[in-house]
Amino acid sequence: MKRVFNFSAGPSMLPLAVLERAASEMTDANGSGQSVMEMSHRSKDFKPIIENAEALTRELMGVPDDYAVLFLQGGASLQFSMVPINLAGTEPGSSPRKATYVDTGIWAKKAAEEAAKYAQVTVAASSKDKSYTYIPAAPAPGPGDAYYHITLNNTIVGTKWPSLPDTGAVPLVADISSCILSEPLDVSRFGLLYAGAQKNLGPAGVTVVIVRKDLIGKAPGWTPAMLDYEIQAKDGSMYNTPPCYGIYIIGLVLEWLKAQGGVTAMAQRNREKAALLYDYLDASDFYTAPVEKNSRSLMNVPFVQGNPDLEKQFVAEAAAEGLVNLAGHRLVGGMRASIYNAMPREGVEALIAFMDKFAKAHR
Ligand code: PMP
Repeated sequence: MKRVFNFSAGPSMLPLAVLERAASEMTDANGSGQSVMEMSHRSKDFKPIIENAEALTRELMGVPDDYAVLFLQGGASLQFSMVPINLAGTEPGSSPRKATYVDTGIWAKKAAEEAAKYAQVTVAASSKDKSYTYIPAAPAPGPGDAYYHITLNNTIVGTKWPSLPDTGAVPLVADISSCILSEPLDVSRFGLLYAGAQKNLGPAGVTVVIVRKDLIGKAPGWTPAMLDYEIQAKDGSMYNTPPCYGIYIIGLVLEWLKAQGGVTAMAQRNREKAALLYDYLDASDFYTAPVEKNSRSLMNVPFVQGNPDLEKQFVAEAAAEGLVNLAGHRLVGGMRASIYNAMPREGVEALIAFMDKFAKAHR
């Protein structure tokens, strides 16, 4: 069996070592005589699994003690609702609270649209004028803002905030779905961080939320229990049955990450991988990287050739060589290579070799 290099934006590659370990523990995890999928979430067998995932998240991300780490369901998309409900939601009859959003792409826009159902949202800046190919200058928070929301890495267009906005006392909230653990991040700069697991962390079905504890407990009375950070935090992410297997895989991925040298070493590798690809693209007269240089993502690298038929052929021929899922997002077209933590440097090198061969054949 030959494993492919999977450039999907998510779900995406997991480290082979993690998959092999999960396979070896499939029928008997940790001497329990059962797989993690079969364990009661309240059992003595599962407790250390969720504790390990939380402890490693805290250790590798440097999460301060005054933050809760939650493993929830509903994807990053449910956080588009939970954030405004919990941080800005009000009781019926009282006027809505305010929040500032920055529109840096489709996910950022969706987050703002969802929040507008619960809060008075101001989209204070947008990069839509140039098809989201840059990160706009950070606007100041509005007076009375309950929070300020950014999408730190924009998966579809391949941009990343080059530096964090200064929001003063207004809690900064960031969607870090496609960049969590790719580079060091100062958690203390944020009020809340959230990420769907299916890119850098594990399988789809788990969402990690890191929230400053003083922001918990403010949800209005009408908040569904499942969507209330206070209830989820009080019950250690076990108000109901959590996504146990996904949490277990996150633990294995974090153990792998730690063995690789942690986030600093991973960031170094990620910068090298991204530089290989961007340098090749910048030197090429066949492909173009549309994103402005100081806004480029380390994780998602879009590129175009310009001829849609040739781009289709590129994606198909690459797949035949084991370089799969290189089509750009259906809304933007072209190609996109997602090179998350689990993508080895050899994958990027193989992609560049293929790109070069394809360019020479079609120039
Ligand atoms: N935010 C970002 C930045 C994403 O990339 C995605 C999914 N690709 C989402 C949110 C939506 O995530 P989910 O499917 O987990 O709801």
